[in-house]
Amino acid sequence: MKTAVISDIHGNLEALQATLESIDAMDIGRTVCLGDIVGYGADPDACVELIQKRNIPSVIGNHDMAVTGGLSTENFSILARSAAEWTRSVISKEHASYLAGLPYTIERDDALFVHSSPDLPNFFRYILNQNDAALSFDAFDTGICFIGHTHRPSVFCEDGSSAVVSKGNRFIVNVGSVGQPRDGDRRACFLVFDHEQFSIEYFRVDYDIESAASKIIAAGLPQKLADRLRLGI
Ligand code: ZN
Repeated sequence: MKTAVISDIHGNLEALQATLESIDAMDIGRTVCLGDIVGYGADPDACVELIQKRNIPSVIGNHDMAVTGGLSTENFSILARSAAEWTRSVISKEHASYLAGLPYTIERDDALFVHSSPDLPNFFRYILNQNDAALSFDAFDTGICFIGHTHRPSVFCEDGSSAVVSKGNRFIVNVGSVGQPRDGDRRACFLVFDHEQFSIEYFRVDYDIESAASKIIAAGLPQKLADRLRLGI
């Protein structure tokens, strides 16, 4: 059994479509989404619709919650806040209630899926380094936990000894971002987890960045949100 794990789509339809095409071309049993389906990008409704149409189970992200009024944006950056307000003003009621109903965690076959961190998943803590990750291993029982939230692909192992997912250790793995990568590589990012082999493989996918960026400008969203897609930061 293999699972493709996608996260942080952020209303970027072009990136989501290219990513799903890439997953379709492989022999993968299922796809799981780690949330932040909306926020920042110009196509929140189309992205939610595609996730629903494909029956992709998803957990809730902080942007999904902010858009549906479940989370205050007072701790958001100015960019994130203005994007959340714009998204709230355009998203359909049906899609907003779908987002509001998403769970904090999903567990499947010795893998846990959560947006930010397995401890206090409703707090949206950032796991940026080994110290941040160390606080989380006691909070879950599975061998591996997949997270998003920082938009930076990374691997943390329980005893700090390895950056390569392999049997005999427990891992927290950040899958990177489909719709707004921030690791300097502007291509969409996702990974595939092989449950039997207990291994992961990252993939990067080219997509029509200019189209996604020009829609952001046309929607009246901040120019910076278009620029960061072009730069991957
Ligand atoms: Zn995000």
